[in-house]
Amino acid sequence: MTRIRYQYINSEILKLLKSLPDNLLCFPLDIKKIIQLIPNCNLSSYSYFANHYNVSINDVISLCNSQSGCTHYDEAKNKYLILYNNSSKNYNVRGRQIWTLAHELGHVKLKHLLYLSEKMVAENRLDNSSCTIFEQEADYFAATILCPFQIYKHLKITEPLDIQNIFDLSISASENRFEQYEKWKTHHVKTAFDNDLVKIFKPFLNDYKLRSQ
Ligand SMILES: [Zn+2]
Repeated sequence: MTRIRYQYINSEILKLLKSLPDNLLCFPLDIKKIIQLIPNCNLSSYSYFANHYNVSINDVISLCNSQSGCTHYDEAKNKYLILYNNSSKNYNVRGRQIWTLAHELGHVKLKHLLYLSEKMVAENRLDNSSCTIFEQEADYFAATILCPFQIYKHLKITEPLDIQNIFDLSISASENRFEQYEKWKTHHVKTAFDNDLVKIFKPFLNDYKLRSQ
């Protein structure tokens, strides 16, 4: 795979959003609850995992090969385990933790680990430098599900701080996202995906409008 599969990712996002109960279709997105609704996916923090297996947080970091999070896939049982670092040390603020969770959910929903385990290129583990495209796909998934550009206009977003407040992202992610939005706005041609997203979040957008009047 050499290119990010935008259309495929968009359709997986829509499928997921449409399967959620109405009370989860609002921002900031409750990404933990969404993960907990997936029947074959368990979620654990680094600290819980370290306690449970009586190892250090550093052991979990090296097991995951990541400071922020990882996903383990058990092919025989078809079960996923998402681990995320819940310590706010080293600037791992809540907004970053939310991004990590959405990124790992992206790996699960886009079936990256299934693909990799079939290919036998990784030991059932991702976050390996040879998987750059999958990393980019998971980031696109996270960005689109956590803070979709399609609704910025409805939310009257005019600066990075609005993004931070509404979507609960870190300030650096909010700044990045705002910069990308400015570009997106000028080049983007409206698609059916845009309409579908707005439709899904219509009750939230109406409610937001009422509250901000
Ligand atoms: Zn990743």
